[in-house]
Amino acid sequence: MISKQIIDEIKKACEVEARHQYIDIDGKTVNFSSYIKKELLKIYKVSDKNPVLFNLIQYFEVYTNSTVIERKHAIEQLYELLDKIKPVEVTQSKQTEEKVQNDDVMYVKGVGSKFAKILNKMGIITSEDLLSYYPRKYVNYSQKKNIRDLREGDEVTIFANVKSVSAFNTKKNLTVMNVTLQDETGLITITYFYAKVNRYRLENYKKQFPINSHIMMSGKVKRDNYSGLLTIDNPQHQIISVDLTEDKLLNVGRIVPVYPLNENLNAKALRKAIFNALELNKNRIKNIIPEYIQKENKFLDRYAAISQIHFPSDEDKLQQAHSTLAFEEFFLMQLRLAISRAENNKKYKAVPISIKEGGLVERFIKSLPFELTKAQKNAIDEILRDMNSQTPMQRLLQGDVGSGKTVVACVALLSAVENGYQAAIMAPTEILAQQHFNNFVSWLAPLGVSVGLFLGSNRKKVRDKLACDLKNGQLDVAIGTHALIQDNVEFKNLGAIVIDEQHRFGVHQRTKLKKKGMLPQMLTMSATPIPRTMALTVHGDLDMTIINEMPKGRKPIITSLMGEGKKREVMESLKKQFNLGYQAYIVYPLIDESETLSAKAATVEAEKLQKGVFKDYKVGLLHGKLAPDVKDKVMEDFKNHKYDVLVCTTVVEVGVDVPNATVMVIENAERFGLSQLHQLRGRVGRNQLQSYCILLSSNRSQETMARLRIMTETNNGFVIAQKDLELRGPGEYLGTRQSGIVEFAVADLVKDVKLLEQAREYAIEFVKHKNINDFPALKNKLYAVSASSFEIQTG
Ligand code: ADP
Ligand code: MG
Repeated sequence: MISKQIIDEIKKACEVEARHQYIDIDGKTVNFSSYIKKELLKIYKVSDKNPVLFNLIQYFEVYTNSTVIERKHAIEQLYELLDKIKPVEVTQSKQTEEKVQNDDVMYVKGVGSKFAKILNKMGIITSEDLLSYYPRKYVNYSQKKNIRDLREGDEVTIFANVKSVSAFNTKKNLTVMNVTLQDETGLITITYFYAKVNRYRLENYKKQFPINSHIMMSGKVKRDNYSGLLTIDNPQHQIISVDLTEDKLLNVGRIVPVYPLNENLNAKALRKAIFNALELNKNRIKNIIPEYIQKENKFLDRYAAISQIHFPSDEDKLQQAHSTLAFEEFFLMQLRLAISRAENNKKYKAVPISIKEGGLVERFIKSLPFELTKAQKNAIDEILRDMNSQTPMQRLLQGDVGSGKTVVACVALLSAVENGYQAAIMAPTEILAQQHFNNFVSWLAPLGVSVGLFLGSNRKKVRDKLACDLKNGQLDVAIGTHALIQDNVEFKNLGAIVIDEQHRFGVHQRTKLKKKGMLPQMLTMSATPIPRTMALTVHGDLDMTIINEMPKGRKPIITSLMGEGKKREVMESLKKQFNLGYQAYIVYPLIDESETLSAKAATVEAEKLQKGVFKDYKVGLLHGKLAPDVKDKVMEDFKNHKYDVLVCTTVVEVGVDVPNATVMVIENAERFGLSQLHQLRGRVGRNQLQSYCILLSSNRSQETMARLRIMTETNNGFVIAQKDLELRGPGEYLGTRQSGIVEFAVADLVKDVKLLEQAREYAIEFVKHKNINDFPALKNKLYAVSASSFEIQTG
């Protein structure tokens, strides 16, 4: 039998794994993938032999050998599947049954079995779960505007009762619904238009506005063309209570919580239930934040915070409650990270590495044709300091595209080689690996350091030879894609590893490397500047260095925004650049999430351009559907100026370096996120030449224009990333769906930066100086988040 509990535990496990970037996290007894496989097998045995499930089970056999993208995909698939499996309640032991009964949300006054079913569906099982169903926002009655005082053109919020709702169909296939609202001062009618619907749907629409319910409505006041009366244009509304007079809770204050609702969930009933659940849990809710932290920061008691977040007595208390609960969330997360990191540091040692005067590193830096920037020097200092210790380096090097991370990576690798160890750099694509290889060979061959290139597409003969050289120590530096960490690749003595563009690659692959004998010093690099809060959340287990300075002499890229109508003109202007001997990219966006479709679009366009406006020039084509060696050839040819313009899809985004390219044209720019646009733009402006980025978009909506305009105003990736986060929210920003990477119930990743920083510091100090066993409530909560058997173990 499949219990809901098992399914939930598997889901929790998946969430934790996702939060850890799919590294096949270590459990108390087994790894994530083994745990999942075992559990899925159990389900498979008693279920109706679902083929998708069968495939997934097989997949988890090879989980550790696959890329992060594949892992992520599999976990998402699993998630979807779990949602479809119908749990059958198993008979539990008496004891747990009793516990569940007492706690069951069903027994909260005012809930009952029918309401409980609705809540259960939303994941609310116990009365405490109900308490963590937090308001989405609050409305403040002091902002209220009387209906009598409305003026045309005002943006207003009114609070009123629904007086009547009527609906009729027009001849023009429209359904019109009129909602009349009343407050103490007057009446107003709001009109909604729908494409004609059947009676049943219509009844449902009307149900949004129960007669006599008290609602809040906001929007812009306008005059109705037809009736000549004032109305509100396309308003947002929110039901506040079904019956104002009877709702005592509203008297708690002027600030009213607004919960995320759905069609089965009635605002008033929900608020009552929450109120009663608060009563019920009065003496059960223990403080989780350690007392000394609570005192130092004037956080509320946990119970008070929860009460206030639901029914705030005033703005100040609400703010305090928010801070308290947000800090708690951050603290738990950071504590988990700090604990697992401390554990790892105890378990795994690295070889300390130090550099000598006149050694490889020094000679390398001297041989460079340029002076390192201050930021590069600083990064090198931090990295060398890290490496000179038994605690394995786990550092993330962030720097905008073109800030010169590769040189820094090279220093890290060389320092290992200087000490007699091997080193490796792993890149997410063959193009990038090839590019690194070319760079490294030109830098390192003169220093007598040997370099090998490990690609999935290598011929067997080449592969065998490389593997052999690596194993017997002939090779100093291995460069490659994840072909590098396949089982048949063995190092003689790997001392340091760099993972480039890790956000794309994603694999920490520590598990894999651990199995190769030791944990090397590890540097991960990312050209995607991410906001501080995101960094601390997603990469909270890493130290961070930021290169926030471009090499001297770079001119900021000039970015402009144009309608698709200007396309012809833009193409003509490219010729001027070609005639000057420069090159350009034209990027096509992903169409319907399909690389096949966008590859087609780019192909058609490339042909059209070659035959038309660019008939006297050379047009290249690059997209993800080309065979890897063809891709490399195209890129190589573009780099060698065999093409004037490269028509491409987003495959060109990752780290490609062609300094002679000065123009980047991006079609349908509105389809990209800001961070991605910034990434793309970074392909140009790679030397002293003035470069240009032209964003084409036919979408003229204010929102889109405002968003894209940010690109024309700044070249700073960190500023753009922050804006992107603010505009799209954390989930969209990271492109996560339900995998729960950064989901906080209260904490706001945009606004609560300070609390997160604080939580991190407290967590690190806590691990150093305190014993978790002295904090039972905290310890409980720390483990409660993932009840399954594999959450990180503490000492
Ligand atoms: P990214 O950080 O995007 O990986 P790269 O390491 O590819 O950037 O560097 C971009 C270009 O700048 C390369 O051609 C590199 O040789 C050059 N470069 C790196 N550091 C400096 C510097 N301090 N001064 C001048 N050019 C530099
Ligand atoms: Mg790079």
